[in-house]
This record gives sequence, C-alpha cells and structure tokens, in this order.
Amino acid sequence: MYIGNAKDKEPCLLCGQPVEITGFSLTTDDGLQKFCCAGCLSIYQLFNADKVKPTITPLLTKTKKK
Ligand SMILES: [Zn+2]
Repeated sequence: MYIGNAKDKEPCLLCGQPVEITGFSLTTDDGLQKFCCAGCLSIYQLFNADKVKPTITPLLTKTKKK
C-alpha cells in the first residue's frame, strides 16, 4: 500500500500513523488534535470526554443504518 510522503502529514494522536484524510479532528483543551480515522477519533473521545470540546461535529456522524 502506498502511503505517500509522510513528512508533511501529521501523525494520528492515537496510533501515530500519518493522517491521510482530514476531517477526523477534535478541538480539545490541548488544541486541535488529528486522527487517521473515525475509529481512533472515537476511542480518543471515549477516554478524553472531559477534554474534548463539543463544538465540532466531525464527519463520523454519518452513520448509515439500514
Ligand atoms: Zn489512528
């Protein structure tokens, strides 16, 4: 899998992988945190619910249920 040049990509706060897709970010007490995927973002949210500012609704609210 080609990941590309990771140099100018920010690492995911949770797993450390370069963030390929923007949109999975949270505003927290520590500033804007970026994540590589909705999974990492939601896990971080779970453990840092008190730090996360509930202002931004990330893309992951798009849950399709059938
Ligand atoms: Zn990640």
